[in-house]
Amino acid sequence: MARESQASKRSRLAEIRVRLHNAYPDAKVGLDYTTPFELLIATILSAQCTDERVNMVTPSLFRKYTTPGDYCSVPVEELEADIHSTGFYRNKARNIQGCCQRLIDHYNGEVPMSMEDLVTLPGVGRKTANCVLSNCFDVPGITVDTHVTRIMNLLNIVSTTDAVKIEFALMKLLPEQHWNQMNHLVITHGRRTCIARRPICSACVISDLCPSSR
Ligand code: SF4
Repeated sequence: MARESQASKRSRLAEIRVRLHNAYPDAKVGLDYTTPFELLIATILSAQCTDERVNMVTPSLFRKYTTPGDYCSVPVEELEADIHSTGFYRNKARNIQGCCQRLIDHYNGEVPMSMEDLVTLPGVGRKTANCVLSNCFDVPGITVDTHVTRIMNLLNIVSTTDAVKIEFALMKLLPEQHWNQMNHLVITHGRRTCIARRPICSACVISDLCPSSR
């Protein structure tokens, strides 16, 4: 099969975005939060865990811990118990305390507003940084999670599972004003229609644009 040109991918992706936007006008970030700091913590907790599960844990967590100092003032075992049900709790508790300590030491206790600074925080990679930047500070970015990785490969927009390569490939194919929204649209599509292992292709609004349609 001939390799699809960038121009063709660009126009296919533009049409995909429009259709997903029409199908899911309510698409938004799935994690509950009220401040950048809360979203940072929630996103760290969401690794290998569903947003629904994180949203069950964060109301009491955010009541108990309101500042980076609060997270650092308890024994790590206590924080582990508080986030236990999100899985990988030992790693996450260590990362949260390390992240909070760095916020205190280097950023006056505030969440920094740049990718460069965010990725220096323990437990924070480009995915988490993009999530915080795009949702809290309106900085254009494409958050690449498992849904985006899976669906962009099914659509043959990319053929790699490397999240950073996918992020940069999508940045070349999509106008910047659509970067932040694209992530919410694709994640919603992945939850409601293009479900892992059982995609509902017969009800998919982009099936004619998808080479993996069954
Ligand atoms: S056609 Fe099927 S595989 Fe392709 S995006 Fe839609 S649900 Fe997913």
